[in-house]
Amino acid sequence: MSLVRLIYVSRMTDDCDMEAIQKILETSRFKNTSLDITGLLCYDPAFFIQCLEGPRGNVNALYRSIAQDKRHTDVLLLEYSEVDRRLFEEWSMAFVAMGDVNKQLLAKYTGSGKFDPYRFTAEHARDFLTELAEYHTSRLDV
Ligand code: FAD
Repeated sequence: MSLVRLIYVSRMTDDCDMEAIQKILETSRFKNTSLDITGLLCYDPAFFIQCLEGPRGNVNALYRSIAQDKRHTDVLLLEYSEVDRRLFEEWSMAFVAMGDVNKQLLAKYTGSGKFDPYRFTAEHARDFLTELAEYHTSRLDV
């Protein structure tokens, strides 16, 4: 079975609010568990950045469904690769709000500029999400 990791960034639309995000999380935890998918979803009032990892067919099918969701737009794939192990194996879908992100970590990835994950390379995106999970393990809403 081929294990893959997929990371994308997208822009939240006006159809999305905290209530919608809560629904997404509830659905994700249930569905991802049944699909053997793990990952992390980070959001700020403008963006989503999400990592999905799991069996290739399941990750591809879920990504196709997510990409059509009208609660976000401008979905841009940052990384898609076959991997030996998962980065977020403990979480069906961990969730971090940008407002809660450690300021030092944010500065490391944004410099003095504004947070713009569309400028992330695949490596930046992966490192950012990994460090996010490490810094916020105790607070991850799983
Ligand atoms: P349905 O809910 O019938 O969905 C059918 C189609 O309609 C899908 O393409 C879906 O994307 C879209 N859709 C569903 N609800 C809405 C809505 N309220 N407004 C607009 N379009 C909608 N789901 C997961 O299972 N796991 C995840 O990790 C996950 N991450 C997500 C991350 C983001 C940023 C967003 C916006 C959504 C995410 N979702 C996730 C939700 C996902 O898009 C689907 O809504 C969900 O998986 C159920 O899809 P379905 O095909 O089973 O059923």
